[in-house]
Amino acid sequence: MFEDLSRHLHGLSERARLRALAPRTGLDFTSNDYLGLTSHPGLRSAVAAALERGVPLGSGGSRLLRGNHEEHELLEAEAAAQFGADTALFFSSGYAANATLFATLPQKGDLVVRDALMHASAREGMRLGRAQVVAAQHNDADAFADAISAWRKGGGAGRVWIAVESLYSMDGDAAPLGDLAALANGKDAVLVVDEAHATGVFGPEGRGLATGLEGRENVITMHTCGKALGCEGALVCGPAAVRNFLINRGAGFIFSTAPSPLMAAATRAALRVLRTEPHLRERLRMLCAHANGLLTKHVDAPQTGSQIIPVVLGDDARAVAVARALQESGFDVRAIRPPTVPEGTARLRISITLNVTAADVDQLVAAMCDALSGAVA
Ligand code: PMP
Repeated sequence: MFEDLSRHLHGLSERARLRALAPRTGLDFTSNDYLGLTSHPGLRSAVAAALERGVPLGSGGSRLLRGNHEEHELLEAEAAAQFGADTALFFSSGYAANATLFATLPQKGDLVVRDALMHASAREGMRLGRAQVVAAQHNDADAFADAISAWRKGGGAGRVWIAVESLYSMDGDAAPLGDLAALANGKDAVLVVDEAHATGVFGPEGRGLATGLEGRENVITMHTCGKALGCEGALVCGPAAVRNFLINRGAGFIFSTAPSPLMAAATRAALRVLRTEPHLRERLRMLCAHANGLLTKHVDAPQTGSQIIPVVLGDDARAVAVARALQESGFDVRAIRPPTVPEGTARLRISITLNVTAADVDQLVAAMCDALSGAVA
């Protein structure tokens, strides 16, 4: 019946690209649970309290129908205030938020200039949308400016959208947000910032790297709730017109069951933790500095200064073999291969979270040195 699919899978396997689900075992050097909030007592008790006061498990429908719950609205009001935006809209995932946002907001006749390394969810939205899309060289603000100028010269008359991540998910480097915001202002463009990996980790109170830009009429941000916030879902923050347009025209919002109100309650508790427990961010910052220092010194990793440190090995099979050796030694490290990352840049994506200690990092680096120096050449 599915011989064609099986052939395709076989082809992936031959190229060391076959993916399979694996249990979570070993020390966590993979998750995006940067602050360890997935098991934070404050979040657990917020969910227990919500259950206690009768908040339902499921929303029961789309937000536009019966699915809208007070918990969603409380979260959105609190998130907008905390992130400094006019409004926020809660989606069931960052994927849904990005896909919906980019499929809905840019109109026919508009231009979207996106960073070359932008996440698949944003690219999917752009594919569904009607605007023209151009990829600009990674983190090169001049390349963004050139793409806009060339389009205007060619007669482009619509609105321009600049789309970036504030901290890149597979490279751990930060976007030049100041330059891009200035460019957006100068070119009358809208800046859309995916804060997935910066939310909770960077900025005052963990508000992200776009703190200070939010609240401007030409800035939209997307904060995922499934990474440092330890929950799931995403908050799109921006002007009221953007929120209202997504509510009226965003297919991924309209035709989907609203997220669990319990998740909204948990996410609100996570926002509270960001405000009240700065020591978590400080501990993570120190752990990241330790890991960055060791990995740069011993395995030639780039100094990202963030909680995401790529160890680029190039070859897919080698990345898989080294990851497997580390897994067998008790470290949960995964190989990231194309198409998630560009061809020839297969890597280990080391993620630093409060689920590990500095001593765990030391052991990981030692094991990585062993694995790289021939044991699995
Ligand atoms: N944007 C970026 C940069 C991401 O890394 C991810 C998740 N890997 C998403 C969006 C999607 O978010 P979610 O996992 O909540 O669907």
